[in-house]
Amino acid sequence: GAAAGNEICQFKLVMVGESAVGKTSLVLRYVREQFQESYQSTIGAAFFRQTVFLDDSTVQLNVWDTAGEERYHSVTPLYYRGAQAAIVVYDITNEDTFHRAKTWVKELQREASPNILIALAGNKADIANKRDIDRQEAQAYADENSLLFMETSAKTAMNVHEIFMAIAEKLQATG
Ligand code: GDP
Ligand code: MG
Repeated sequence: GAAAGNEICQFKLVMVGESAVGKTSLVLRYVREQFQESYQSTIGAAFFRQTVFLDDSTVQLNVWDTAGEERYHSVTPLYYRGAQAAIVVYDITNEDTFHRAKTWVKELQREASPNILIALAGNKADIANKRDIDRQEAQAYADENSLLFMETSAKTAMNVHEIFMAIAEKLQATG
């Protein structure tokens, strides 16, 4: 992401995780301030560009969302090639999605850019009454694997700006 002079640093950030955990919802909440209870699975890979104003610099996040191919477990390495950061999303009410998130973390650490910054998002925190994954368990897993970790809600906006901002700050700090 290094840039000379007044150029704005750009970073590729990819959204990964099991189908229906809320990847698209998190991106739409972040870039459009909106949330939908139901919609079609994403048609066509989506790309969103977001300028982030930090204390003493500005960075641009190029956020990639899947076209729903994770449903068929057919997300290819091309999708995350060159990514400096990833948000691995799971649904706190669905244990399978947490296991799938761990598989994603391993794949990214093995196959993606070395030093890729990975954030783990435990989404749907607004329905914690249906919780299946303990917050402390996820935090411990994140700590062991040097991941940023937050529980989020695309519905209420809890920690949505915060997680993207934490990534932008860390990317900016490490170049
Ligand atoms: P994706 O397949 O991972 O992109 O998931 P989507 O963003 O399409 O979301 C799948 C479903 O979960 C949709 O019905 C969303 O409205 C819902 N959803 C997404 N995020 C949240 C959330 O934070 N809380 C709740 N309650 N529902 C959510
Ligand atoms: Mg989607």
